[in-house]
Amino acid sequence: MLDKKNFYINGEWVKPNSSEEIKVIDPATEENCAVITLGNKADVDIAVNAAKDAYVSWAFSSKEERIELLEKLYENYKKRWADIAEAITLEMGAPKDFATKLQAGTGASHIKSFIRYLKNFAFEKPLGEHAPNQRLIYEPKGVCALITPWNWPMNQVCLKVMPAIAAGCTMVLKPSELAPLSSMILAEIIDDVKFPKGVFNLVNGDGATTGDALTSHPDINMISFTGSTRAGALISQNAAKDFKRVSLELGGKGANIIFKDADSEAIERGALRCFRNSGQSCNAPTRMLIEKSMYEEAIERLKKYTESFEVGDPKKEGEHIGPVISETQYNKIQTLIQKGIDEGAKLVAGGTGKPDGLDKGYFVKPTVFADVNNNMDVARTEIFGPVLSVIPFETEEEAIKIANDTAYGLTNYIQTQDSEKVQRVARKLRSGMVDVNGAGIAVDAPFGGFKHSGIGREAGEHGLEEFLEVKAVGGWS
Ligand code: NAD
Repeated sequence: MLDKKNFYINGEWVKPNSSEEIKVIDPATEENCAVITLGNKADVDIAVNAAKDAYVSWAFSSKEERIELLEKLYENYKKRWADIAEAITLEMGAPKDFATKLQAGTGASHIKSFIRYLKNFAFEKPLGEHAPNQRLIYEPKGVCALITPWNWPMNQVCLKVMPAIAAGCTMVLKPSELAPLSSMILAEIIDDVKFPKGVFNLVNGDGATTGDALTSHPDINMISFTGSTRAGALISQNAAKDFKRVSLELGGKGANIIFKDADSEAIERGALRCFRNSGQSCNAPTRMLIEKSMYEEAIERLKKYTESFEVGDPKKEGEHIGPVISETQYNKIQTLIQKGIDEGAKLVAGGTGKPDGLDKGYFVKPTVFADVNNNMDVARTEIFGPVLSVIPFETEEEAIKIANDTAYGLTNYIQTQDSEKVQRVARKLRSGMVDVNGAGIAVDAPFGGFKHSGIGREAGEHGLEEFLEVKAVGGWS
């Protein structure tokens, strides 16, 4: 079992003040794979103080210095890529190939992308040609609390740490207590790069104690959080007390609207996007809306596709999916699948229980429900497992209405060959992102949601600006 009890504070690995420990569980075997410490208020105070002290000079570091350090970080990340992927497989069960290409890969893409945006970003500029003596200055927001979940660990951590560094902020990262191992490798990489002491700090811990101490700390100026809508609301209450800046990336219940003129792979592609990462993606298209005239045929295709979908050992190479993160999550998914059956949705594939031959580990059967009505729990709750709810529709207006009838608004999907329809529907969908015909959303496009899916945008230029305050100076000469 890995000993990962220390925290990274003020440029070194230190013994925590807290002696409370928890085990990190490998979800594929249900066995303990590492031990970490749950930070207490004193640990948070020490880390925030280090970040506060470092801010005094780091806030005025040159853009060139930050670019040079980030470029070194990128080179070291590439050297540790395989270690990061292996840690992700161990901590959250993403299969080897997926962990390498996508999980560790998106982290690398974000580092590279933020270096590019930092190089091109004008931290000072005139308000406009009409007002040359009116100056805009973009300044770092200050000391940041970065809190991340377990489902895309390196993607989410890099979406916060890299723009915070690029902006000149200092930070305390609290990764998910369920999947902290890849973040601890990132801390080792940052240590190797030799950032000024205190710019980046890592404290492990849970939400109720460590997360709460961080988000209510008076010296934290900004909170960037990715996780559940429930925790996002609690964090916002903490932040409101002293007007901390908040960026929240929360849940989703994306609709994938499949019109009858969709391309020939749209159905299977939609199911794959729902099941990928064992359904544990906030932007997963978990409600498939299918036009009536192709509905029966589509359900047959979904049944065939899902029954052939492989679930298995994440340490193996291949395109299969692994387990879900934890026993709690496994039980929640089982309850929701049962709820779908009880509510009268038609079980087309999968169902409750574990896939054949996988008795150990939190493995879930990829599951498809047909004849779902948008008021059922399986259509309204973010299940966060490989469960697809299929809803028929007759008209374009009806599809848009169903898609928008949700508390969330993260990513919706459209499948049609009619470009006028694409543009009409995309404009009407109430979500931060719309993915058409499997094109995907670019790594540097603004990532974030409407409604209960959050506040703010990550990635690219928008993601960098999240960590900056703008100051207007009149009479600049
Ligand atoms: P979670 O909210 O339970 O935990 C996320 C992080 O917040 C963890 O580090 C946890 O320790 C911390 N936390 C929990 N309660 C807290 C509190 N009261 N104060 C401070 N910190 C607290 O979520 P999870 O189960 O780890 O992640 C899954 C959720 O994340 C899903 O709802 C998913 O949709 C969402 N998510 C959203 C995005 C996005 O970009 N919109 C991306 C990935 C995941």
